[in-house]
Amino acid sequence: MLLSLDKLYPQLSYAQKNGLFEGLNSIYSGLPETACDRCGTCCTVPPPAYIIEYLNMFRYMKENLSDLIPSLLEKAVRFYFLELVDINLKCPFLGEENLCLVYPVRPLSCRGYGLAKKGNFGGDRGEMEELARRYKEKYGIILPAEVVGFKLPECGKVRVVDGRKASAELLEVAVSYVAQLESRLFPVELVDKEYTFVPFVTHLALTVLSEGARIRRPKVMKEYLETGGSAMLNGFIEKAKQVSL
Ligand code: SF4
Ligand code: SF4
Repeated sequence: MLLSLDKLYPQLSYAQKNGLFEGLNSIYSGLPETACDRCGTCCTVPPPAYIIEYLNMFRYMKENLSDLIPSLLEKAVRFYFLELVDINLKCPFLGEENLCLVYPVRPLSCRGYGLAKKGNFGGDRGEMEELARRYKEKYGIILPAEVVGFKLPECGKVRVVDGRKASAELLEVAVSYVAQLESRLFPVELVDKEYTFVPFVTHLALTVLSEGARIRRPKVMKEYLETGGSAMLNGFIEKAKQVSL
């Protein structure tokens, strides 16, 4: 489910007026503080987030990263079009020295990576072989083997630094609380089916891309694979950078 700019602001204002962001931050603060080796591997596939989490990140980006917005939009749009054809792309919010630019508002999926062995933590593109088969059949696109074969390794480098305890149960409860907040914004059936639980980079790209641009994703992928670049993508990026958030 996408949130175009005209729909995003009413939701943002509803969430603000009704204390949903305070609720979200309180859920986040129930999790232990962690540190890791900051290799950036887990930021190769930006994970899914609920829309309430995306709105929180969007608000933070506007308030704290305004100078970086054009470049963040460029990276988000590039990621949206090319994530399945270029293994070198990473989360647009990954900054210098592998520091997360949105660390205080990063979503639960990022917070839980390395703390839980299972569940919706860390990015995962799911059934890549099946996706590759469908792209070949429908669009004649052969997804690169390194993208199809990429599996996010389990990370054993995450350390709890504040003496609290982490557990898979704690994380699962936190997810269910965020889902409850989400159902203040969207019908519970949509939330339960995870229709609003989408990689936050996709949320951001879809906020600034027109429908005409979105449906050309396979064409851009094909052009990129055949020529190593895409004039069409460059045009979409230029337009997206001019969107006034
Ligand atoms: S959580 Fe693990 S994989 Fe992710 S940046 Fe830290 S050390 Fe690397
Ligand atoms: S939001 Fe931060 S922690 Fe999460 S994938 Fe992006 S850079 Fe990594």
